[in-house]
This record gives sequence, C-alpha cells and structure tokens, in this order.
Amino acid sequence: MEPMPSDSPTIFERIVAREIPADIVFESDRIIAFRDIAPQAPVHILVVPKTAEYANVTELAAGDPGLLAEIVATAEQLAEGDFRLVFNTGEGAGQTVFHVHAHVLAGGLAEGSLA
Ligand code: AMP
Repeated sequence: MEPMPSDSPTIFERIVAREIPADIVFESDRIIAFRDIAPQAPVHILVVPKTAEYANVTELAAGDPGLLAEIVATAEQLAEGDFRLVFNTGEGAGQTVFHVHAHVLAGGLAEGSLA
C-alpha cells in the first residue's frame, strides 16, 4: 500500500526533525525514542519510527514488519526489565498522535491492570 500523504507534520515528525525538543534516550537510523511528556508510569518512553508513513501499528505491521520488530527490540533494551508495550490504535482507543508509536511502560506496574 502506498503511504498516505499527511496534511501537516505530527508532533513526532517535528521531534525527529529537531524542530521541537524532547528528552531523547535512543536514536538509530530508523527509530527515535524519548520520554513521554506526561508519564503514566515510573518509566514511560515512546519508541517511534522516524518515517511518518504509518499512522498506527496495524499499518506498520502490514507495511514493514521488520521495523515493528526493531521497535519491540528497542523497547526491551530501554525498559531494562519487565515492561508493558501499548500501541493505542484509533481515536476510540485514545490515540492522539497519528504517527505510529509504542508506549513502553515499566517500573512498579500494577498486576492485573492494563491501563
Ligand atoms: P497516544 O495518545 O497513544 O497517541 O500517545 C501520544 C503520547 O504523546 C501521549 O502520551 C503524550 O503525553 C505524548 N506527547 C505529546 N507531545 C509530546 C512531546 N512533545 N514530547 C513527548 N511526549 C509527547
């Protein structure tokens, strides 16, 4: 499937372009990771592919499964222990930035809860 042209850059594209600052904890040729500005857990990192081609994880899985695997491997490295990986997918699930990203949550997560 051809990438959808986006109307205007998302906030994550602007972070990739260094147009706005972020607390960047990891960068490779295809991925950037930075701390969430509104953390929901002691460790809350966003792992983001640099390409703006994919709005959500289902598009990414279909279009570039290797890149999705890189995101998962990066999450594991950054969490330094057990972690939860969340991909909000669609407005109804709380997605607000339509540039695929993994939330890496770690550190003192409650057992038996998902949110
Ligand atoms: P989602 O709601 O799944 O689309 O996740 C978007 C996330 O991006 C939220 O958890 C926000 O707190 C986070 N966020 C928004 N703007 C920034 C920013 N400038 N730097 C870091 N995280 C941000």
